Amino acid sequence: MYLVFDIGGTNMRIATSSDGKTLKETRIVPTPADDFEQGIKLLTQTANELCAGEKIEAVSGGIAVVFNKDKSIATHTSHLHGWVNKPLKETLQSNLNSPVHLENDTAMAGLGEATSGAGIGKSIVAYLTISTGIGGVRVVDQKIDKNSLGFEPGHQIIVIDGVLCHCGGKGHFEAYVGGYYLGRDYHQKGQDITDQAIWDKVTKYLAIGLNNTIVHWSPDVVILGGAVMKSISLDKVKSYLKDVLTIFPNPPDIVPAKLGDLAGLYGALQLLSQN
Ligand SMILES: [Zn+2]
Repeated sequence: MYLVFDIGGTNMRIATSSDGKTLKETRIVPTPADDFEQGIKLLTQTANELCAGEKIEAVSGGIAVVFNKDKSIATHTSHLHGWVNKPLKETLQSNLNSPVHLENDTAMAGLGEATSGAGIGKSIVAYLTISTGIGGVRVVDQKIDKNSLGFEPGHQIIVIDGVLCHCGGKGHFEAYVGGYYLGRDYHQKGQDITDQAIWDKVTKYLAIGLNNTIVHWSPDVVILGGAVMKSISLDKVKSYLKDVLTIFPNPPDIVPAKLGDLAGLYGALQLLSQN
């Protein structure tokens, strides 16, 4: 039996797989974001229930944190404040009595989309999730591309001396397109904004961020996921992108994510097959 999970700021998704390719049973439980011990206890308990006595051969999961180099400890996070600087990997390996492979949750979701979702058959995939903030990952030949510090496309500067980002920087991509900032700057939740002039402006900023990501990452396809994309017209994104991305006569496809909330679990299965 294989175990995969996806721990976000709100929910933990935990699933088993018999063949390492398909998901068997999935459970969703609320994440104890401020309490690491409680979180690990709940994860272990749920895993044991799902496995019903069968031995776990390997475990893989995404967590909404930035990891240290060997992906064993969270160094910082915007969501799981109680989980930083705790022996994440070590505790899970000992509790589940199995090798555990951890990855940042956005990178894991991108790996899932690239290998089992909207990126199937493409060699170089850029995955961006336009949500409360903006995250992303570059996947090359079905693997998360090598990186030294992780990928942070949401914190590219798109406006000089622009509005403040929660990271402390100014003019960052996510501070113009991320749902949290839409709420801050337009005084209503992203999904409640009906003024098309606002969405038009947001879509233009999105096109700038995509332009920059495409010229640096050179992808075959760009996959866009995340809640904010539900309010944005993909045709408009492509049209504004065409205006700014003048260097490539044949720009990459821009496509919506396919796997929704399960992307991270499929990414975790893929990571298992690579270890
Ligand atoms: Zn930032």
